[in-house]
Amino acid sequence: MIMSAAIETSGEQSEHPGHTKYKRLFTPLKIGSVTVKNRAIMGSMHTGLEESPNGFERMAAYFAERAAGGVGMIITGGIAPNEEGGMVFRDENGDAVFTASKLSTDAEADGHKLITDAVHAADPDVKICMQILHMGPLAMNDQLVAPSAVRSRISKFTPNELDAEGIEKQIEDHVNCARLAQKAGYDGVEIIGSAGYLISTFLVEKTNMRTDEYGGSYENRMRFALEVVRQCRAAVGEDFIIIFRIAGMDMLEGGMSWDEVALLARELEKAGASVISTHFTWHESAVPTIATMVPRAAFTSVTARVRKEVSIPVITSNRINMPQVAEDVLAQGDADLVSMARPMLADSDFMNKAAEDRADEINTCIACNQACLDHTFSGKTTSCLVNPRACHETLLKYEPTENPKKIAVVGAGPAGLAYATVAAERGHHVSLYDAASEIGGQFNLAKLVPGKEEFYETLRYYTRMIEKLGIDLHLNTRVDADMLADGGFDNIIIATGISPRVPELEGIDHPSVVGYVDALRGTKPVGSKVAIMGAGGIGFDVADFISHDGPSAAQNIDVFAREWGIDFTNHPRGGVTGIEPEVASAPREIFLLQRKETAVGKGLGKTTGWTHRLTLSRRGVKMMNGIEYLKIDDRGLHFLRDNKPDHLEVDTIIICAGQEPLREVFDTAQARGLPVELVGGAFEAAELDAKAAIYQASHMAAAV
Ligand code: FAD
Ligand code: NAP
Ligand code: SF4
Repeated sequence: MIMSAAIETSGEQSEHPGHTKYKRLFTPLKIGSVTVKNRAIMGSMHTGLEESPNGFERMAAYFAERAAGGVGMIITGGIAPNEEGGMVFRDENGDAVFTASKLSTDAEADGHKLITDAVHAADPDVKICMQILHMGPLAMNDQLVAPSAVRSRISKFTPNELDAEGIEKQIEDHVNCARLAQKAGYDGVEIIGSAGYLISTFLVEKTNMRTDEYGGSYENRMRFALEVVRQCRAAVGEDFIIIFRIAGMDMLEGGMSWDEVALLARELEKAGASVISTHFTWHESAVPTIATMVPRAAFTSVTARVRKEVSIPVITSNRINMPQVAEDVLAQGDADLVSMARPMLADSDFMNKAAEDRADEINTCIACNQACLDHTFSGKTTSCLVNPRACHETLLKYEPTENPKKIAVVGAGPAGLAYATVAAERGHHVSLYDAASEIGGQFNLAKLVPGKEEFYETLRYYTRMIEKLGIDLHLNTRVDADMLADGGFDNIIIATGISPRVPELEGIDHPSVVGYVDALRGTKPVGSKVAIMGAGGIGFDVADFISHDGPSAAQNIDVFAREWGIDFTNHPRGGVTGIEPEVASAPREIFLLQRKETAVGKGLGKTTGWTHRLTLSRRGVKMMNGIEYLKIDDRGLHFLRDNKPDHLEVDTIIICAGQEPLREVFDTAQARGLPVELVGGAFEAAELDAKAAIYQASHMAAAV
């Protein structure tokens, strides 16, 4: 997709002194009377700390670290303006108790003061806005409200339809919340009017069936959003920032038309919004907008069109994860400000590194969602796969050691890399060994999967950190106990990972059988009719790899748009109405099998699993559960299903049947009395993923 090359930076002040590479990113921006020091915003993200004991102290530390890290403005996770708009938790007696994720009283504002004070103390020039999030029909309580009693397809509850008095109350509660946010020391608020939450359900016909002045014509459907902004503005005065988040493209069949989006933006400006922020989905839409297979900056062309409709600054977001991507978006004139939520979890120092031309030291968000959104939507505290300190700043600290040790780390996969870099950062003397010719372990296989190209960034980050921290790296070095005994190490960390499991099955040595490593590396041929044994994360990745043809959608916005049925050019209702996804069928026939009776792919990531299942089924991959494998022979793979014998006449059987810990070095070194410890896959292969490996290694290295 070609974007406009025009550079129009509305409200431009002066450039970051001496910064040439990311000139626009470091150009301050005036929003009314407030100056934001650069164009990078840490976008809103619910962390789960909002409802935790000591959550406000922990959030204060979390946000203060990001403020010190150079970001221009921070937006907090969503805070409800009232009980019906948020989450109600029950105490041990079953009584409803409201927790800190609501701001409707003076006492609750005091908690927020901890956050605003910490951020302004870290850097008085950093602005912080609180997001007002009324969940409407997505609220998790039994008093939930909406314009009409329409249940969202992703909610268990049908909302109560608001009467006229109820609508007035909701508006007043937004105003009260904005006023309290101002009192708590925030520089502004962001009001969320997208994603299927309350305000957006007034805008869209299918969720607003009212016949009063808040329903029917679009003018009426906009009224609630505009009244909220108008009345908030009147309450907080001219200098307080009001950001309004609209769905620039809601990705809903029959969703908002472009004309409706444009009119809303213009009217919001008139009503008193200081900034328009563009969002690109409702939670119930069936288009991925932030997963790793979404191309970087895929949606900024939509923001660019919104920007032409208004004279106030406009924020863009989604899959912008490196300074150069942000700079390009600004240079194209697509937006005035760039919001990055997950990238700031992954690296709190993102903007300082950009400012000092150290972008190669940025620990890049790989858009996996594994420790952030998957946690959020499972009720766990948010964190980050590549940075387990995120949201745990007060608990996991990498403090300089007073007792530097000589440490050997055997294996440079994610576990070994995390251990080595954290230990070296703390001042230990680390030697890192790997039998392979490159660092990364299994990440070197993961990065080959279409849509997982971001894994290269993690390897780039660790390569740079090894160099910067002076870690003594030995590649092409298969370590054994003799070498370790001769090294005189104080601590030896065994991070040798796993070996792929080979199931005990008649015919497992048949020439048609291929391991997943060979299939991904291309070191053994894969035929035209394939059975994949094992439908875990790797089975799915292998199915994607061998069913895929042509360029990776993650690398090409046009391919991505075709695969998911989005029309960025004509912007039909929701961007997707009437457009059939065009997925090229697989170049071979593929069967993805598992023994479990549960639905295939059920164990994949909570927020991304559906995208993998949908992609493979659109490519014609057949998924089979409840399989009891019997044998492999020249006729293919034989099994029982529903207690009936059957077989698949396939020419290739790829084994993705899980993994076993690789502990040979550990066992022999331990037998010789060496000071060895296990980490990562070598410690535990079941339930292992990179999140677990990096988490465990980082905690161990923080304590050594
Ligand atoms: P490994 O990555 O296996 O690293 C072990 C290292 O030890 C290797 O480099 C090996 O060469 C080295 N080694 C072994 N023996 C010796 C020796 N004697 N001397 C020197 N070096 C030795 N996880 C996720 O969380 N998200 C994903 O999306 C994801 N996708 C994946 C996709 C694929 C295709 C694969 C294969 C894995 C994926 N994983 C994913 C899993 C993740 O990569 C692993 O959980 C993680 O790599 C385990 O880390 P580790 O350091 O314990 O082991
Ligand atoms: P996995 O998720 O544990 O899946 C292993 C699969 O093999 C399962 O389908 C299992 O299901 C089957 N299996 C186990 N033992 C078997 C046997 N003896 N014979 C036949 N089938 C057997 O492991 P993985 O796919 O190897 O992945 C390894 C790790 O990497 C996992 O933790 C995974 O989460 C992670 N990973 C994550 C992603 C991601 O996108 N987040 C991607 C790739 C990998 P049945 O027993 O039902 O057959
Ligand atoms: Fe990004 Fe994954 Fe970290 Fe979430 S867990 S912030 S998606 S790297």
